[in-house]
Amino acid sequence: MLSTNVLVLNRGYVPVDVTTVRRAFAMLYQGIAKVVDDQYLTFDYHSWSELSVKEHHDSVGLVDRLVRVPRVILLQIYDRMPMRTVRFSRFNIYLRDKNTCQYCGEIFSRKELNLDHVIPRSRGGRTSWDNIVTSCFSCNRRKGGQLLKTAKMRLLNVPRRPRWTPVSVYTLRRGHYDEWKPFLNPIDFAYWNSELEQD
Ligand SMILES: [Zn+2]
Repeated sequence: MLSTNVLVLNRGYVPVDVTTVRRAFAMLYQGIAKVVDDQYLTFDYHSWSELSVKEHHDSVGLVDRLVRVPRVILLQIYDRMPMRTVRFSRFNIYLRDKNTCQYCGEIFSRKELNLDHVIPRSRGGRTSWDNIVTSCFSCNRRKGGQLLKTAKMRLLNVPRRPRWTPVSVYTLRRGHYDEWKPFLNPIDFAYWNSELEQD
């Protein structure tokens, strides 16, 4: 039971990792994370361990009592996660750019945005974290194959490899619990999470 999976959300409720029950309890105990239950209520270690354990709950014996096994935890701080390479995928690029056109600054739905090469491919621009941004169709058309200067456009943010570590589709498939479902976007994970080819 201690080695089964727990979904880790960052403070924006975005899945960032899958950890073990053992490690989840350690994080709760240290105050690094809180439990999220099926009603989206959050609990610290103390309040969680006070909850009664029903028959259908997974539980572990801790010190002097049975404690319910958390299936989703919410990070309270950012910097305690192990750093991993962030997957260069559509999902993560949209996440980094917060579904915002990096030229006009407007927020769009995902299907109204596309990926833009800041330095166009035709001018040797690479497909990489520092040359790909989300752009709305209209800005994309306006820019065309031009460099920013020629197009008289500018970027809102300098594109960089993000520092957070979003969870990959592979990790999510490994051990899936019903409690995770609300936090996993009902989008096509294969499309969004597959690794894009960098050059
Ligand atoms: Zn735009």
